[in-house]
Amino acid sequence: MYIDGEWLPSSSDEWVDVHDPSTGKVIDKVPSAADDDVGKAVDAAKDAFDRGIWSKITPGDRANALLRIASMLEQNIGHFAELETLNTGKSIRQSTTYDMPYSVDNIRYIAGAARILNGDAMAEYVPEGTSGIRREPIGVVGVITPWNYPLMMAVWRAFPALATGNTIVVKPASYTPLTTIELGKLVEKAEVPKGVFNIVTGPGGRVGEQLARHKDVGMIAFTGSTEIGRRLGELGANTVKKISLELGGKAPFIVLEDADLDAATEGAVVGGIINNGQDCANSTRYYIHDSKLEEFQTLLVEKLKKVRVGDPSNMETDMGPLVSQSQQKRVKKYVDEGIEQGGHLLFGGKIPQVPGHENGYFLEPTAIYTENHDSSIVQEEIFGPVFTVLKTSDLDDAIKKSNEGIYGLGASVWTKDVTRAMRAVRDLRFGTVWVNDHIPVPSEMPWAGYKQSGHGASLSRYSLEECTYIKHVYFDLTGAVRKSWHHQIYGKK
Ligand code: NAP
Repeated sequence: MYIDGEWLPSSSDEWVDVHDPSTGKVIDKVPSAADDDVGKAVDAAKDAFDRGIWSKITPGDRANALLRIASMLEQNIGHFAELETLNTGKSIRQSTTYDMPYSVDNIRYIAGAARILNGDAMAEYVPEGTSGIRREPIGVVGVITPWNYPLMMAVWRAFPALATGNTIVVKPASYTPLTTIELGKLVEKAEVPKGVFNIVTGPGGRVGEQLARHKDVGMIAFTGSTEIGRRLGELGANTVKKISLELGGKAPFIVLEDADLDAATEGAVVGGIINNGQDCANSTRYYIHDSKLEEFQTLLVEKLKKVRVGDPSNMETDMGPLVSQSQQKRVKKYVDEGIEQGGHLLFGGKIPQVPGHENGYFLEPTAIYTENHDSSIVQEEIFGPVFTVLKTSDLDDAIKKSNEGIYGLGASVWTKDVTRAMRAVRDLRFGTVWVNDHIPVPSEMPWAGYKQSGHGASLSRYSLEECTYIKHVYFDLTGAVRKSWHHQIYGKK
């Protein structure tokens, strides 16, 4: 763990094993923080904040430190990508060409955006005084991240907080802490002052909860499941913490009768299996117009047959294993349940044997057609490479069904008709709506949820605003002893 500029074990000397999901083998161990350790990390962050060594330097100086980290990450993409793939099972192609370069770009954007984060222009909203807005850091921010994009989620949640002058304590997911620890080493090399950036590791139910309860933590920036998001809301209520939540998703993918089916099925495969099907924005519910259902299914299955499932460290592999055995069992259970609840298996559904990786947590990409809209594969977040294909009669029907359920993170519509595309954009209750694509989010744009997918935003200038308090500043312009509005007390004397 990285606390107050020092690398430390847990004071209780307890450890958590870290696995390679492609073999099931233990590859490392990290400390399991004791309550004292979390306390020390928060104290260090609070002390650093109070001393102003980070919160009171210029945005430009903070940005320069973040840019140094981005450059070091860029120079070490190979190392970070290999470690991320080893620890998560995502393909090395994805780690190398997407997760790492995108994270570098995210940091660079955040560093630059912090320099142009303004309060509103000063103006006289009453004749006798000038009002303005300052944006100020909150203080200590507790950052709690999930296992699916360990490095990227640490960047999305920690860097806006840092860029705006907060000090932080990061707790990575227990399955995948390794690249966050490597990121800490870059922070140290970039000469970010001691105590500004701290890392604690260990089980969320204890370490994460302690952060959420701690009186000196002013904000929790959390990305993870809706269930834990709800829990953090409860824990933070005691100290009226700001809680920023990026939670689960169940993205619809609507294909209208005029869509380019080749493009739609190409997009469906990528949208469904990116990150081995463990992306909160994965396309999962495919609402296909009646007239195109058969053709869509045929093309989808043809393309799924070509997906190469295997050793994630091989550049030729398209899809690696799921992150853990419990995740593998959970996703397989959904597949079986989907079929029991009336679904028809179109493709996949089995645990494949990958030579040399017999104990890995693999699952074939799986497509199921169902007319049971209440079945669990339609309603619940599976977080695996499962394509649930449904039919729809028209756009209104597809929008209505898409908007059912608790999630509202991402959705896409596939059509050449601009009028219906714009109607879908307006009526889909999701934080991102793609037209004729699914997944891209540039660093400049917000990633935010509706409904129980959370509130708050990652990326974009909104992620920076989120990590600040707004302060109204009022300057009297009259210099008068008695201001005109004082008559409320003194009368007209
Ligand atoms: P999770 O189980 O909610 O865990 C997320 C983090 O919370 C981990 O660091 C975990 O620690 C910690 N945690 C667990 N219990 C806690 C508690 N009681 N108090 C405080 N912290 C606690 O989520 P996950 O399984 O890692 O990630 C998958 C979920 O993340 C999916 O639902 C996915 O949709 C969502 N996600 C959302 C976004 C988005 O941008 N909206 C992005 C990525 C992922 P341990 O690992 O030690 O349990």
